Amino acid sequence: MTGFSECGFQESSISNFERIAANKDWHNPYWLAPKLDYIEPLDVRDYGISKCIESAKRIFTPEILVQWPDFSQEYRIELVQLYGQAVADNFDLKDFKEIIIKDLGYGVNGENYGDGYIYLSRSLVCDPMASPLQVVDTITHEMRHQFQSECIEGKHKVPAATCAEWKIGQDEYTDLPPFAFDPWGYKYNPLELDARYAGETVVREFTKEYRA
Ligand SMILES: [Zn+2]
Repeated sequence: MTGFSECGFQESSISNFERIAANKDWHNPYWLAPKLDYIEPLDVRDYGISKCIESAKRIFTPEILVQWPDFSQEYRIELVQLYGQAVADNFDLKDFKEIIIKDLGYGVNGENYGDGYIYLSRSLVCDPMASPLQVVDTITHEMRHQFQSECIEGKHKVPAATCAEWKIGQDEYTDLPPFAFDPWGYKYNPLELDARYAGETVVREFTKEYRA
């Protein structure tokens, strides 16, 4: 039976937790055996983010942001492709192929598997009421994942410490439970932290002047 207990947890989640807690791997998590001596602070990793801020400022002007819901789907896609190409240039991507707009799973805005294709959710781009800021964020985020993959493959000059951390992040990456208990599984995986930092920083910075 599923339902909500007094503290608000679903009963099924509690039994999941008990099952995970009973698993012996949970009692001996990998992070108790560190694989890195040094982890760089995130804020030193620009690698093209500042250029993306300028591109977002140039393409997603205040007028464009305000008129976004009134634009045709074709024009919104044109802007998406324009910004996407700019980000690919800013990150100096070696293997970028194209942005593909398609139906993704519920709650998924974008995907990238390091093969040069950037997938964007159709509802994010085609629903006029979806936020253009989130479009900027998602394109930057997924392009950044492409950059990370290329760094791991040795295609960009980044510090060895960054590359080593991202390589381990790739090895440990999982969106399967128990990621909620796992510092590097998904939510706090260094690849996700860096991609979120890239996408969210671009939005934060390029909209700075629009706020009072
Ligand atoms: Zn991501």
